[in-house]
Amino acid sequence: MKKNKTPKPLNFSTGWDYAPAPESTDHIKLEKQYDLFIGGKFVKPSGGKYFDTINPATEKKLASIAIAETKDVDKAVQAARKAYDTVWGKMPGAERSKYIFRIARMIQERAREFSVIESMDGGKPIRESRDIDIPLAANHFFYYAGWADKLNYAFPNRKPSSLGVAAQIIPWNFPLLMAAWKIAPALATGNTVVLKPAETTPLTALKLAELIRDSGLPDGVVNIITGAGNTGAAMVGHTGVDKIAFTGSTDVGKLIQKSIAGTNKKLTLELGGKAANIIFEDAPLDQAVEGIINGIFFNQGHVCCAGSRLFIQENVADIVIRKLKQRMETLIIGDPLDKNTDIGAINSKEQLQTILKYIQIGKNEGADIYQSSCSMPAKGFFCKPTLFLNTSQSHRIVQEEIFGPVLTIQTFRTIEEVIEKANNIPYGLSAGVWTDKGSKIFNLTSRLRAGVVWANTYNKFDPTSPFGGYKESGFGREGGLHGLMPYLKF
Ligand code: NAP
Ligand code: MG
Repeated sequence: MKKNKTPKPLNFSTGWDYAPAPESTDHIKLEKQYDLFIGGKFVKPSGGKYFDTINPATEKKLASIAIAETKDVDKAVQAARKAYDTVWGKMPGAERSKYIFRIARMIQERAREFSVIESMDGGKPIRESRDIDIPLAANHFFYYAGWADKLNYAFPNRKPSSLGVAAQIIPWNFPLLMAAWKIAPALATGNTVVLKPAETTPLTALKLAELIRDSGLPDGVVNIITGAGNTGAAMVGHTGVDKIAFTGSTDVGKLIQKSIAGTNKKLTLELGGKAANIIFEDAPLDQAVEGIINGIFFNQGHVCCAGSRLFIQENVADIVIRKLKQRMETLIIGDPLDKNTDIGAINSKEQLQTILKYIQIGKNEGADIYQSSCSMPAKGFFCKPTLFLNTSQSHRIVQEEIFGPVLTIQTFRTIEEVIEKANNIPYGLSAGVWTDKGSKIFNLTSRLRAGVVWANTYNKFDPTSPFGGYKESGFGREGGLHGLMPYLKF
């Protein structure tokens, strides 16, 4: 009998060679210039000023974007107020839900266009924008469309009513998805909206404005304005606003909280994070390695809940680190529009500089660095996936949010030790646990001070699950039934 030959192990260290598979851009239409979407129409900014939005993978300009000044913010808030008083605030929930449902359907119909534009403007791989961002954005609208006529069932005997005008400010890491997280529950609860996307990623929000105009939603119910930090500050400071929903950095969140102290404005803050991803010796290690990779390198680490601090139980540390390095070697970094790309472009030059600054800090702090040997595109803002070994709790790279593809690794011996280390951080947004034992999961999930704890998976999102943080990661919840509450009074 012929002896079975043991197959030769794959040589991961050389990486994979795939033929390029770029998504086409023929089907998308971008204007040269985008104005402000106020009262159902695109209007010129009062100061006549515009800024450029670029593609971070090519550094080429995509479009000119209007800068909304205080006057324009006022116009948008007034349009939202008028729509609230005359139409939307009075409309029965069952009617509101039809509009929200229609927006969801239209996003699905134009999903391909939205995903390509999201990847061009923000730098994320097309696989993510196509399979995660855009479908989830549509699903948020579908989900909240279902709640619009059931608010009395969601909160029985509490007579919920809407607040009025919501000012919503979002970051650049999940542009359309964050817009959906904000707009869908606000509309379902009968509020009107003024939304500002981030400076580096305004395009899908502006495409959403076109879609909303085409959907027949009454004028002024959703207004989308663009600009820099000043525009956001003017929205926060406007006396006609009843509710502020902010997702972004902890520093700006603190500024907002201070500036509205003493007013009646309701506030939710979704801020930074520095999640612990914890691997126990009894975890399915190959799955855990995939989870670590997904947790930190997904979207170039531009994820508030990125699993950026890895804790490995001591006796499996060597094997996990070896597997992790092997897997990192297979990651493809490059053109965000290529369907094979795992890691796309860093969102902006400034963010790349911040990440590189932290990599230098890590080296100066004495941690051991490991970067994959992948080839890097010649143009654009890119960063190699990076590990830091031999880090300690006091290192800045362990304590501060880097918001890039940089993972710090520590080991632990006991559950008590890892819980203490994981919680010893100013943030409390999310965490991950990998183990074969349900009892360990329950023990940890009740003691980790984090808004979301994933078990044997990571970065999983669903419109029905609430999301939000503790401590300097903010307060209030988005998603699920909980996500209705910040937009209601009782
Ligand atoms: P950021 O600098 O705080 O900006 C967020 C938004 O606020 C942008 O639209 C920004 O406009 C605007 N803004 C800036 N200064 C403002 C001010 N003084 N008043 C009002 N608005 C102002 O944050 P980022 O760099 O875009 O995003 C990254 C951060 O967001 C990370 O810390 C991340 O953890 C956090 N994040 C948290 C969650 C969560 O759910 N917890 C989700 C995603 C991201 P410009 O773009 O024009 O500056
Ligand atoms: Mg851009």
